[in-house]
Order: sequence, then C-alpha cells, then structure tokens
Amino acid sequence: MSSGVLSDTVRIAQEVQRLRDLGHKIWDLGVGETLIPLHSSIKQAMLKLSTVDRFNYPPVAGLEATRIALVNYMKRRFSADITVDQCLVTCGGKHASYLASKTFLKPGDRAMICRPFWPSYPVQAILCSASTVMVESDDNFKISPQTLEAAYDVSCKLIYFNNAGNPSGSLYTESELLEILDWANRRNVLILSDEVYLAIDYDDKQSPSLAKLDTSLTHCVVVQSCSKSFAMTGLRVGFAVAQQSRIEQMIAIQSQTIGNTSTLAQLLGAEALNNYELIERSLTDEMKSRRDLFASLIDSELGLDLIKPSTALYYFLPVEIFSEKFSDSVALTDSLLNQAKVCVVPGIAFGQNDHIRLSFGAYPEVIENAVLAIGHWKKLNA
Ligand code: PLP
Repeated sequence: MSSGVLSDTVRIAQEVQRLRDLGHKIWDLGVGETLIPLHSSIKQAMLKLSTVDRFNYPPVAGLEATRIALVNYMKRRFSADITVDQCLVTCGGKHASYLASKTFLKPGDRAMICRPFWPSYPVQAILCSASTVMVESDDNFKISPQTLEAAYDVSCKLIYFNNAGNPSGSLYTESELLEILDWANRRNVLILSDEVYLAIDYDDKQSPSLAKLDTSLTHCVVVQSCSKSFAMTGLRVGFAVAQQSRIEQMIAIQSQTIGNTSTLAQLLGAEALNNYELIERSLTDEMKSRRDLFASLIDSELGLDLIKPSTALYYFLPVEIFSEKFSDSVALTDSLLNQAKVCVVPGIAFGQNDHIRLSFGAYPEVIENAVLAIGHWKKLNA
C-alpha cells in the first residue's frame, strides 16, 4: 500500500482550501461523484415522506421494501437471480465493502488488490489485520488468471475486484469474468466484486454482474450502491449481495457497528431502484455529454486524441502526455494546482504513480475552464 494514500488526498484538499482562501478560483476535476441534481422522482418521494410522523429503527439487514427493490433491480438490470435473504442494505457501497472485508478476512490472511485500485481497498484490508499483495493489470488496466496466479500464495483469501473500474474505466467481458471466476474456484479465493459503477454504460458494452455469472454466489460478494448510478452519494445507500450464510455473518457485524442504514435513505433508495430506467437514462445521457465535451476540448486545446472511457466518470491519463518535464503524478498534480489552478487526483493514490485521474463528473463550465487552463499550462511547460 502506498503510505501516502490518505495523506496525498488530504494534502491536496488542504492545498485547494489554502488557494481558495487566498481568493483563487480552482477548477476541480478531482470530484468522485456525478454533480447533477437529484432526479425529480426522488425529490417527489422526499416530499411525500415529509408527512411521515416518525421513523423507527429499521431491520439491521435493511427494509423489506428496499431488499425486494434490489432483487427486482438485479433481475431487470443485470439478469441476476437473487433472493431477499441474499441482500444486505448498508451505509453506502463503502460500508458493504468494509463489512465483507471484516467478515471474510482474518488476521494474517492476505487480500489481493488489483492495480490501479480504489484507495479504500488496501486500507480496509489493513483494518482487518490482513496483509495485501498487488495484482498487476495489462495495458487496458485489466487483470487475468495469469496475473492473479503470479501474485497468489496460500494466505490469499479475498480479491478486491472492481468492474467497472475506478480510476481506470476498465470493463470486463463475460468471457474474461468467467475465466477469473474459474481461477477463484480453483484457488478458493472469494471475489469482492465492486460494481458500483457497472450500470453507467455509455457505449452499450453490457459488462455482466458476477451475480449473474456465479449463479449460486459461491465465489463472490457483489457490492452495489445508489451513489454513482443514481447520483445519490450523500444519501448513503449501498448493498451487498452474497450467499445467505455470508449475508448473515455480515449482518452480525453491521448490527454492532452502524446498526442500520437510515430508514429515510433506504426508502429513497427503493424508489430509485424501482424507477431505475428513467434515472439511469438521464444520468448516462448527461455524463456521456460531459465525457464527450472533455474529449473534444482535450483534442482542440491539448492536441490529444483520447480513447473515451465507456463507463464511470474518469479519464486516467499518463503523466507524460501532459509534459515531458514531469515523471510522477504528485509533482504534476502540484504543478497543475498551483500554476493552472486545476485540481486532479495523482495516480499514486490508486497505486499508479505514472498517471493522473481527471473527473468529468464536474459541471460542464468547470470542465471547459479546467481544460483551457491545462492547455495554457501545457504551453508554458512544453
Ligand atoms: N467503490 C468504488 C470503486 C468507489 O469509487 C466508491 C466511491 O467513490 C465506492 C465504492 C463507495 O461508494 P459509496 O459508499 O458512496 O456507495
């Protein structure tokens, strides 16, 4: 794990604040969420809920209505047949991932982390007193049975696997996923399949959920969330899907930690899941237009013809395409922030120091100004 995971991002946030306090306008491409308004159907549901007299503690596993909504969503959206007993509602995908880590990683176990990784994975493993080993990815930021095997030893018990990928935007095909499942079966390693971005599909790639391919959920715990697919980050509704016996173990830990996810948030989550087609369409259309805006500006201002990501919210780009003066992500990030007043996330936070992550979750005005500023910066740093 990079020792700087937390400190890098905290340091950038502090620097952004320092510059803002000095009166500078900062164009923030560091955002990890879709900056769009809540869908009108969610706002209407909120209005209706404002007449409710009180909210009792919900069941630890989640409201029946929300779990049923998840079962139906997984069937309709991902053709996955799951039951209510195989669902757990939790406080965001992050807590679902943590509960799975805490339940299935024992002290001394090893967790396999696919590089580049979402920064919480190695930290969650360490919080469970497990060690970590990196699984290297190919040029398309994908892992394979070969790279898994190269990293494997008998203490490996869990893989943090992220499809669709943050920061990389990688998306796996069905046959690639089946090969990975086959490897996990042979080695008896559990796959924590983080699919919080999987429903964001700009180019109709239809990468499947592991919950569809692993029909008895023998080798995986799937993590889902309302955060990214429905632009509901602040409402904190996420899910774990797993075999009933595994869900029961996770419920035991949830009951003594966060206890329950807010009833209000769960009801809004159910509303989003039941109404997913409309919300997903409007979110995907808006984000696709921001992705395309970003690509056309990068082309016109920086002369870079980029492959557009088919999912998620990020361009994950090599440091060297910005300027030959920089070889690592931290120095480039600092320079972009201080000179161009553009905030990006250094790849070191994702274990990949030769890349930076730029988010098109930002508002179009921010994307435009940020890319113009980077273009100007690039000329000065040629
Ligand atoms: N997984 C990945 C890859 C993420 O990027 C995030 C959030 O940034 C999460 C999980 C957690 O999302 P949430 O807890 O908001 O559902």
